[in-house]
Amino acid sequence: MNTPNIDLHSHSTISDGLLTPTELVSYASKKDVQVLALTDHDDIAGLKEARLMSKKLNIIFINGVEISVTWRKRTLHIVGLNFDDSNVNLINGLKQIRIGRENRAKKMAHSLGMASIFNSLEGAKKYTKHSTIGRIHFAQFLVSKGYAKDIKNVFKKFLTPGKPGYVEHEWASLKDAVEWITQAGGDAIIAHPGRYDMGKKLYPSLLADFKSFGGSGIEVMSGSQDPSQSQYFAELAKEYDLFASCGSDFHGPGISHRSIGFVKNLPDECKPIWLKWPNVINNIH
Ligand code: AMP
Ligand code: MN
Ligand code: MN
Ligand code: MN
Repeated sequence: MNTPNIDLHSHSTISDGLLTPTELVSYASKKDVQVLALTDHDDIAGLKEARLMSKKLNIIFINGVEISVTWRKRTLHIVGLNFDDSNVNLINGLKQIRIGRENRAKKMAHSLGMASIFNSLEGAKKYTKHSTIGRIHFAQFLVSKGYAKDIKNVFKKFLTPGKPGYVEHEWASLKDAVEWITQAGGDAIIAHPGRYDMGKKLYPSLLADFKSFGGSGIEVMSGSQDPSQSQYFAELAKEYDLFASCGSDFHGPGISHRSIGFVKNLPDECKPIWLKWPNVINNIH
């Protein structure tokens, strides 16, 4: 399907992206993005600024967020789109997750200390800018100190399950995250379904739970999943009567697999999520 240039997954300095919301929208405009969602991890503080800049540059802006969730002991990401960003339940839910991020960071620093890497919390905080802390900020600190040659390797050596620096963490429940989004009038989407470490057997249970909580769709196309998986997720979306979404998961020039606006053209059999949104279908040209 030759869709318009729609990118419904991106990050700014409000979470672990490199560009400020204003810079991100400018960058998207240069890449001819027509419809953009900013989806920072567990935070919606960048939406106002991004919306303002989008207006200036004639981009249709969609409110977004990427919520960290624990489902059956696994961490999943749920993207929320096109919600009311003044919804108090959503705002409070996200605040709780950010408090959890701070607690996890202390445990990560302790764990790195056991591997004789000291002062990593202070070091990581230097990279957070306006955001709450995430693994990326520890990664940047560790690379700057020469513990690994780049971000990819630092995740392999330190920040993934079983390695020093990784700690298990309980995020929001899938049900809560989906309900915060839908009660704020938005659509809940399973982010990059191909990136989770689970066998094909588990997808039906996940999709059944997700649908029963009110979830709308899945990212059939994502910059952070292997493009060859798109057909499989297009079929799953059809089977579970879910809408399809697409997004680059752009974090900044040079650090993301795919640039902003370059993950589009959903398979023909998909129902694009934006068909639900009058603000997009009435304004797209
Ligand atoms: P967190 O939510 O703090 O646990 O961090 C998750 C974020 O870390 C993801 O959204 C990515 O931006 C980044 N990330 C996770 N795994 C990797 C990896 N292997 N290489 C580079 N970045 C990664
Ligand atoms: Mn990220
Ligand atoms: Mn994600
Ligand atoms: Mn993301």
